[in-house]
Amino acid sequence: MNFSDWIKNDIKNVLLVEPNFPIPNKSRNHSNFLPIGLLKIAAYLKSKNINVKLIRFEEQKNNDYGQTTFDIPIKDEFTPDLICVTSIFTYWAEHVKNAVLFYKNKFKGVPILVGGVYASLMPEHCKKYTGCTDVIQGPISEAENIIPDYSLVDVDYQIIHTSRGCIRKCGFCGTYIIEPDWVCKKSIKDEIIKKKLIFYDNNLLANQYIEDILKELIDLKKEKKISYLESQSGFDGRILRKKPYLAKMLKDAGFKNPKIAWDYGIVQAPKIKEQIDLLIDAGFTAKEISIFMIYNYEPNYEEMEEKRVKCAEWGVQITDCRYRPLNATFDNYSSYKRKQGPEDYYIHKECGWTDQKIRKFRRNIRRHNICMRHEVDYHSTILERKQVPQEEAKKYREMNYEEVKKYLPDAWSPSLYHDASEQDYFKVNKKNVKKVKKE
Ligand code: SF4
Repeated sequence: MNFSDWIKNDIKNVLLVEPNFPIPNKSRNHSNFLPIGLLKIAAYLKSKNINVKLIRFEEQKNNDYGQTTFDIPIKDEFTPDLICVTSIFTYWAEHVKNAVLFYKNKFKGVPILVGGVYASLMPEHCKKYTGCTDVIQGPISEAENIIPDYSLVDVDYQIIHTSRGCIRKCGFCGTYIIEPDWVCKKSIKDEIIKKKLIFYDNNLLANQYIEDILKELIDLKKEKKISYLESQSGFDGRILRKKPYLAKMLKDAGFKNPKIAWDYGIVQAPKIKEQIDLLIDAGFTAKEISIFMIYNYEPNYEEMEEKRVKCAEWGVQITDCRYRPLNATFDNYSSYKRKQGPEDYYIHKECGWTDQKIRKFRRNIRRHNICMRHEVDYHSTILERKQVPQEEAKKYREMNYEEVKKYLPDAWSPSLYHDASEQDYFKVNKKNVKKVKKE
């Protein structure tokens, strides 16, 4: 059934649920995680005089058995006739299941719909595994052009889609399943209600009306109606190279922190450099540019590390993304653990990835980004954790990598290739610090 088939005349109250996903509290309202689909549904239902209630993280927590429990019970007067649960990554399926189970018990007999990314990518699995009544696949067309109901959340930005779908079909990406139709808007100015906009397009520059939209945004910026724009996805570098003037339009419209994707091997380096130069010529700084890189996938650790070194040469940051198959239904990777295995999370062994390589690459990226952001040529955990007296730290900060490596045993240069077997300092013991002092 379609979503609209569920919205019959006897529906008066709809409960909207964001499952208790493992998102750190400080990131709950981050633009990457806002349950925008539920906010659109809320606005759509309200336009039909249907009452809605949104349940988010503050009402839920996981008990010792990983099941969702409530801190704050729903007020008794709100008895839903329909429950809509959202989903994100397939590997967070268990959280969706817990939410469905919880509401099934709490409101017996009330239909529960699950939509969102996991539901769209794995509808059969979702129906069977979660035990929901129905699965809603893809965007809900009735709610697509409605301004989401931001009154239900506390955010200072709004999310915009100028397009759905994508013109490409990259091997690791499920957009072609989630949003199979390529649909573009010609104008968005009437949708804008906040000064800060986050674009959720999969491929913003591919919108055939992108120039019209950027012109609208440039005018709105001049009128001081908007002040901050960011694209969640990377800009399509092939389009940027074909239409280099778009880089200047993006800058003039007020886009910040532009990202471009480097999905394949080191052989793409000259093209990526060309794209970076286009952004720099348009007025962006190297350190605010970030290169999207998927790891634990086809280029192996060694080649990914070569790519990272190239980014250091160019002075740009990296937005890393650990690959999980589109049908992965769990992911228990923890950056706090020293060692995990394929029983915990997906490791792309075909390309030689191991737990050690994944953790090492992730640490390299973190250190790399700190160096790029602060425009310094080394990173030291000893200095980051303030393990040496301030006066001494000041002296080290004035040194370059070649000088400081004689003093700080953990000095790490982003410009050098780091083998996966190289040890990182997890704990800096005082003995090492003393040695540093003496030298
Ligand atoms: S360009 Fe981006 S959104 Fe489009 S298929 Fe490739 S990864 Fe997915």
